Amino acid sequence: MSAVSAGRQPDVIVCGAGVAGMACAVRLAQAGVRVLVLETRKKLGGRASSFIDPRTGEELDNCQHVALSCCTSYLDLLTRLGRGDAMTWHPQLHWAERGGRVSTITPTRWLPAPAHMTLSLLGAHFLNAEELTLLGIGSARVLTASRERWRGKSFAQLLTWADQPETLIAKFWEPVVVSACNLSCARTCAATALKVFQEGLLAGPQAGQMGVPRVPLGALYDEFAPLVQRAGGQVELGESVLRVRHEPGGACVELEGGRVLRAGRVVCALPFERAATVLDEPEWTGRGAQLAGLAALGHSPILGVHIEMDRPVLALPHAVLVGAGTQWVFRKDLAGQRVHAVISGADAWMGLSQEQIVARVVDDLRAYFPSRAADAQVVSARAVKERRATFVAAPGFERLRPSVIDAARPGACVLLAGDYCDVGWPATMEGATRAGYAAASAVLGADVRVPDLRPPALLRALSALW
Ligand SMILES: Cc1cc2nc3c(=O)[nH]c(=O)nc-3n(C[C@H](O)[C@H](O)[C@H](O)COP(=O)(O)OP(=O)(O)OC[C@H]3O[C@@H](n4cnc5c(N)ncnc54)[C@H](O)[C@@H]3O)c2cc1C
Repeated sequence: MSAVSAGRQPDVIVCGAGVAGMACAVRLAQAGVRVLVLETRKKLGGRASSFIDPRTGEELDNCQHVALSCCTSYLDLLTRLGRGDAMTWHPQLHWAERGGRVSTITPTRWLPAPAHMTLSLLGAHFLNAEELTLLGIGSARVLTASRERWRGKSFAQLLTWADQPETLIAKFWEPVVVSACNLSCARTCAATALKVFQEGLLAGPQAGQMGVPRVPLGALYDEFAPLVQRAGGQVELGESVLRVRHEPGGACVELEGGRVLRAGRVVCALPFERAATVLDEPEWTGRGAQLAGLAALGHSPILGVHIEMDRPVLALPHAVLVGAGTQWVFRKDLAGQRVHAVISGADAWMGLSQEQIVARVVDDLRAYFPSRAADAQVVSARAVKERRATFVAAPGFERLRPSVIDAARPGACVLLAGDYCDVGWPATMEGATRAGYAAASAVLGADVRVPDLRPPALLRALSALW
């Protein structure tokens, strides 16, 4: 039995066991802090979680989650959870066209960024010679643009400045941006999209590899509760936080059902719209207004579609479908009979029924992989709509991102953690982990954040020149 479950007051209460809350709790527990983690659901992981499909008994992710190799904090968290080997790494990206032609982009390992993409892009059949030339010019401009300068503008405005034509935006930039930022180029804040390209896909062969978990997301967290318990802490599932208040010398958490818990510090790792309602407003001067501003921007939805066909339909491990409604497909078994489709920025799909969604995705599979899928029939399918998938990273939203610590109140007892905090990343597991590690650093009074990958020398030199 842990000290907390035996009735001792915890040192820190973490509200919410999504990636941010878990990241914070892991770093605190590993530093010997007694943490009590309170999570309203009966499972861990928040928006990055899995569930048992009652029809098949199979564990399915709410949606395919991927990471890039520049996600240094998230990969560090997986290692601390004993899952450092959970990712299958894909250096190649496959782009499929209607009719079945596939272009595979493989970064050249011996060429520095941005030249590492050049050789491979020459073989990208879905782009014509003019588009390829303009993409080369545009990539260099995107790589070296100042995020500060483009903060209040959309990524579409930046692409216009970089002389990128509509056809190239539709075929190349849009699929990447909508997958990474969950918004179209026209709606995404330029600074957020720049982050993805500058530190990920275009930053070098070592930064932009895509990692796909080999196990269901829920299995990544098996070691979380034991790790917290070993430090004298406790994880309580099915406990809803109603209110968080400052008190002299600490903070108190009221739970639905009336229980009141106290600790020296509370880390509020709830979604922003929930944090805005549980926090004691007068204490939250600046950040309360920021949370309300984020809540007013709303959410952008994502759709994950699990499909089993009656025969193998997908030979590739994954593919972007150029110009299709279904943006990305992942092969979920060796044969390619089970496929997971992802539609980001999925507002137009939210009103569709399960049958309509599955029919659209299957039409795309048949059109893009006709040699295998033309006559294939659906065995089973399940679409998971996540209406509140991510915050809306619209131009200007960066100023609404609250800081983890309250700069106006040094030593404040209530801290924030969540992908929406001012970590600079889009809504990702990396952003959530960074916020969790920043909150842990504030509690410990020691910086436990993980360094970024160092940009390649050529890119640093180019950025200085531009
Ligand atoms: C469909 C989908 C696909 C995605 N794809 C990717 C991807 O490919 N790669 C990537 O990096 N990111 C992806 N993301 C984004 C990523 O999942 C999130 O950015 C990240 O998981 C957010 O973590 P968080 O801890 O900040 O928030 P959350 O996951 O929202 O965690 C908050 C936690 O607080 C709990 N909670 C809420 N209210 C209460 C309460 N009153 N009391 C106690 N607990 C409460 C919630 O249940 C939850 O567990 C995707 C998200 C979705 C939805």
